[in-house]
Amino acid sequence: MNPLEKEIKFLKGVGEYRAKYLNKLGIYTIGDLMEYFPRDYINRVAKTKIRDLQQETRCAIVGTIVSIEKHNYGKNKAQLNIVITDGEDYLFCTWFKFGNWFMKQFKLGQKIWVSGLITEFRGSPQIIHPEIEILGKEGDKQNFWHKREILPVYPLTEKISMNLMRQLIYNAFKLYHDFIEETLPEYILEKYNFEHRKISLQKIHFATKLAEVEKIKKRYAFEELFYTQLMLARSRYNHKKKPVGNKFELKKTFTTKLKESLPFALTSAQKRVIREIVSDMCSARQMNRLLQGDVGSGKTIVIIFAMLLALENGFQSVLMAPTELLAEQHFRSLKNFLENQPKIRIALLKGGNYKGKKAVKEQIAAGEIDIIVGTHALIQKDIVFHKVGLVVIDEQHRFGVRQRAVLSQKNKHPDLIYLSATPIPRSLALTIYGDLEISVLDELPPNRKPIQTIWRGASKKKLVYEEVARELKKGRQVYIVCPLVEESEKMDLLDAETLFEQISTKIYPQYSVALLHGRMKPVEKDKVMADFKSGKTKILVSTTVIEVGIDVPNATVMIIEHAERFGLSQLHQLRGRVGRGSEKSFCYLIGYPPISNEAKERLNTIVETNDGFKIAEKDSIQKLLQKIF
Ligand code: ADP
Ligand code: MG
Repeated sequence: MNPLEKEIKFLKGVGEYRAKYLNKLGIYTIGDLMEYFPRDYINRVAKTKIRDLQQETRCAIVGTIVSIEKHNYGKNKAQLNIVITDGEDYLFCTWFKFGNWFMKQFKLGQKIWVSGLITEFRGSPQIIHPEIEILGKEGDKQNFWHKREILPVYPLTEKISMNLMRQLIYNAFKLYHDFIEETLPEYILEKYNFEHRKISLQKIHFATKLAEVEKIKKRYAFEELFYTQLMLARSRYNHKKKPVGNKFELKKTFTTKLKESLPFALTSAQKRVIREIVSDMCSARQMNRLLQGDVGSGKTIVIIFAMLLALENGFQSVLMAPTELLAEQHFRSLKNFLENQPKIRIALLKGGNYKGKKAVKEQIAAGEIDIIVGTHALIQKDIVFHKVGLVVIDEQHRFGVRQRAVLSQKNKHPDLIYLSATPIPRSLALTIYGDLEISVLDELPPNRKPIQTIWRGASKKKLVYEEVARELKKGRQVYIVCPLVEESEKMDLLDAETLFEQISTKIYPQYSVALLHGRMKPVEKDKVMADFKSGKTKILVSTTVIEVGIDVPNATVMIIEHAERFGLSQLHQLRGRVGRGSEKSFCYLIGYPPISNEAKERLNTIVETNDGFKIAEKDSIQKLLQKIF
């Protein structure tokens, strides 16, 4: 085995504990870590002069600290001002929210890198809440990175600090660099003037010139699309060669029973899509279908039909979700819909080791489970299926091509459905997915009222709370989402824990409020969600873990804190948690200054349209394509 395929826990400096957190970043193997790209770079010998900084643009600069001052004002309020100089001019860095720990790390004379939006303060440039990096000085413990001009900045998660991440990247390259293999053919490298993979990966992390990085990113964007296309071309070729796949028969045992037990009538879009899927599954060819439908369009019930069709023919179905929380949610809704068919055996398979997992794995292998729901755990080598007839992959854009290939290789030509709630415009979908068949749920279940979306500045929050109080009085439930779990030293963002405090003790003390975030144990999360679903809890303060798939029709209000920090499709997904019942729903976007023009445009788009397709058109896939062509 190529050592790059080894689990990340085996890398020097990682171990079981840290591996768990790296997994959260999508890093499962040593190779994944080496392919974990920086989101930005720090140039510590940047030549930028303070006097050249442009107002209202994002800039980064290196300077020396000449003043550190804390001003107390009001009750319990303080401001931290740090002035840095490039030897000629001065730049103010200001924080309105910070811990003692944060302040103590600064020393006069220290070299520091700061980055953020340039504004003005008493005639001098200022950055409010900059991103910072204290640069080592003489006498600090020297490490490899200390001497480098350009430092990579990685997206992080709890327990994985920037220094640790850099150290791990260093370890990985030191030990395993030689094992990186080229994946593109020589003539393509030549044609596009791409560098060898071994060199490009190294340069991404250990860049000496930023211009080089741009070129290398292009290589990776190319690679991603190239392999998607290649895989599709191969499957197209195989399809043409000879029909492979299972030919199912609509026996109408389980499926009909499901139809009869539904508490609602299917929309005509659902009926159409079910027909499309059934006809594919009943042909001798392998189905390869993308099911697109905006949030709330009712995709779940459609895939349950497909699963029961497989089951009628004696085949297992697999549903793979991108996160554990989503897998759990799917598992629950499957159980709900299939409540009155107790003979159908459904199992949830999670990552890691836990009690009972071995037994579930054995049942899966023995064919004693009909529907298996899970995450990446499903594609581990030790999972053996009995006879898989259908694989459903939820939110497929989050899974790598490789992983998808693994799942369909392990099982002989199961039918495939990719679910996507981020509608991709048809023409673009065809470019990206080749001749994947596409089904679209372009109709929401009846009685849905459009969601009224309102963007308010943080200073108007009181007004928002008053408006929301009216909904609470009517018995409705409320989601409040914010980007962070707990108070962070680095950023001045409202975190879920602080917000939960405020909401439950000051704003709505009369209502029951609960907190939900990804760090809670699954059983705790289950409990919180169950209480919210049953209406016992009225207000749910949460991080973005509620993004997809959570379904509580009585919740009619969504408040999104720091909406300026979210991307378009994420906002749309979050908003999709409301508007799921027949009552009018509201989504409040709370923006905190400074708000960049780009963020303003995003917020306006969300306010103006509820249409996922329009939103997708403005979103990222186009950016990806632009990068390449
Ligand atoms: P999504 O496409 O976002 O996954 P879901 O499948 O979760 O949507 O469905 C959203 C909600 O709408 C669920 O509560 C589901 O039970 C309900 N639903 C689905 N189809 C219909 C329908 N035809 N009529 C009424 N409600 C429906
Ligand atoms: Mg769903």
